[in-house]
Amino acid sequence: MSKPWIHIIGAGVSGLSLASQLAQYEDLPGTIKISDPNLDRAKSQTFCFWFNEEESAWLKPEYSWPKWRLSNGQDEHVHHGHQYKYGMVSGERFRQSALKTIAEHPQIELVQEWLLDQPSAEHVFDSRPPHLEEFYIKQSFIGFEIEGTHNYDLNQVALMDDLSFAYGGLRFRYVLPITATRLLVEYTLFTAQIVNLDNFEQECRLALDEDCPFDYKHLRLEKAHIPMGLRGEINSWGIPIGTRAGMCRDATGYGFVEMQRWAKLASQQLIAHNRVKAYHNPRLRSWMDTCLLRLIEHRPELSPQIFMELARFLSGDQFAQFMMRCHLKDAFSMMLKAPKKSFILSAMGKPQWI
Ligand SMILES: Cc1cc2nc3c(=O)[nH]c(=O)nc-3n(C[C@H](O)[C@H](O)[C@H](O)COP(=O)(O)OP(=O)(O)OC[C@H]3O[C@@H](n4cnc5c(N)ncnc54)[C@H](O)[C@@H]3O)c2cc1C
Repeated sequence: MSKPWIHIIGAGVSGLSLASQLAQYEDLPGTIKISDPNLDRAKSQTFCFWFNEEESAWLKPEYSWPKWRLSNGQDEHVHHGHQYKYGMVSGERFRQSALKTIAEHPQIELVQEWLLDQPSAEHVFDSRPPHLEEFYIKQSFIGFEIEGTHNYDLNQVALMDDLSFAYGGLRFRYVLPITATRLLVEYTLFTAQIVNLDNFEQECRLALDEDCPFDYKHLRLEKAHIPMGLRGEINSWGIPIGTRAGMCRDATGYGFVEMQRWAKLASQQLIAHNRVKAYHNPRLRSWMDTCLLRLIEHRPELSPQIFMELARFLSGDQFAQFMMRCHLKDAFSMMLKAPKKSFILSAMGKPQWI
């Protein structure tokens, strides 16, 4: 049997995004194989992101909110996005839609298998998640999707509520009011430590009982470590994609949109020129994110205040742009408005002097 044109390792967000973008082309130069032993992974995830009107057409958010909040127990800053809204797509919807597009293409085959070696194909894309030790900071969270007995009447996303110093890092609560009675409540840590998620879950269950004013029933549990900031390049089987390639934003862990944006571009290049440029984090963004991660790593006790100051000085749209894309213009406005001393010392590699 002739070798495939493309072999994608992993049918998670980056693998499915690339395959479904390529499936838009009726006549492909060869066959595509996707290997993954666990095709249900995206089922237990929820993907959130900021988007503008133009992006709404291809990201198709199921729910959206124009306001989000950051607070630390004393102060709160509410952002109102004018060009940008915060949106959500359920992992199940993303997965169903991608799988349907792929299944309809006669040249694409999805195989339930665990690869032990680099497969042979003209182009190999590798999305195997890297080990946690390969990241500076881990975003560890426990998320409860709950259905309340009463209306919660929340009209804004609590993006980072009750910001505080814990587990040698930053701790906050995230609340997504999916409907009037259905909430996603997540307890999150940004820390250099590798936290035991089972122990943290017990603590979060107690916190949820305290935080939730009404009776509720559990619908779904989501828990994970999302890596922030790859320490260096890692060996891959072919071209790395997804988290492995650094597509999850170092400073925030958001990666869903970036993976789809890259998949679109890569499939155009593959069809037009039969080659593709590997993903590279824009330099300026990497530098800025490294400053923020260094602060969290070396002066974690200051990080709640730094996030509060960023929220205070940036407008809703600037904050959304910083979280998602961070162009040169956003980086400048962020640097002009951010707490200067902390960022300058962190940029100099001296966060311990702050
Ligand atoms: C619970 C959770 C919630 C998240 N929420 C958001 C969010 O709201 N917004 C956002 O922007 N980002 C979010 N992220 C971050 C990021 O978008 C996701 O982690 C995303 O799934 C990463 O995509 P990926 O393709 O790199 O990896 P994955 O989606 O993890 O896919 C990797 C796949 O590779 C497969 N695999 C591994 N080894 C092998 C092997 N040897 N052979 C074959 N297959 C293999 C695995 O089974 C897996 O399915 C979230 C992450 C998690 C875990």
